Amino acid sequence: MRTPAEAVNLATALVQAARSIQPDVVPAADHDALVVILEALDIPFAACAGDEEIRAKILDQRLMHTLAMLRPWLDDRASGRRDDDHYAWSLAHLREQLAKHPAAGYRTDYAEVMADWAADRETATGLPDSGSDGGPMIPMVRAADHRPGCPDWCDIDDHEAWDGGDTRHHLAYAVGLSALPYEVNGSEHHESALVVLRQDAGSDPVIAVQMPPSRDEDNPANGVSMTLAEAAELRDNLTALIATGLTGDRP
Ligand SMILES: [Zn+2]
Repeated sequence: MRTPAEAVNLATALVQAARSIQPDVVPAADHDALVVILEALDIPFAACAGDEEIRAKILDQRLMHTLAMLRPWLDDRASGRRDDDHYAWSLAHLREQLAKHPAAGYRTDYAEVMADWAADRETATGLPDSGSDGGPMIPMVRAADHRPGCPDWCDIDDHEAWDGGDTRHHLAYAVGLSALPYEVNGSEHHESALVVLRQDAGSDPVIAVQMPPSRDEDNPANGVSMTLAEAAELRDNLTALIATGLTGDRP
């Protein structure tokens, strides 16, 4: 029995092998098989560890059906006892099996993970998400007891899990941008502009501004638009984090 990690490794090796073969040097049927192998195994990566477990299970199923196609394929090609109709049938059959295990049901975009986290938090606390509605600023990471040496404002529960103990203190405020909506499970979320107060051990605090990519692909230099209310909230977040960085006090 393969472990999920072994399935992922084997699938990755097969994808690399399929990609490395020059399409013009293999017979048409084999080329079609390579295309289906890539369809089967070259599925999007998961956005976080929990989703990676789901992806690994799906990949294992898809790998099992791919190998079931591939093993007799190689024997049949070597013996030459099958005709093109058989190979076409074999690929169509694999596609039918793959359709039963679609590469779906896990998150591939980190923004979705953060949006779900914010929604969970809203349910748990009754606080609205920080967004263009002028709601309160919500730290992106849960507040907790701080370990010694952590400034009061740092919102990291567990530096060991967050940065492997390579201490980088962190506090972020987000503004949802109405210009960048996306849907998760039928509900609408917005990509966020983040302002982060960050401090590496032994260094002064710094501010990082993280904007989502522009959707204006023709003119990316136009940047991401925000309403004046959103811009004001971003300004307030920045002001609050600068004050926090200077004084060490949470606003
Ligand atoms: Zn810290």
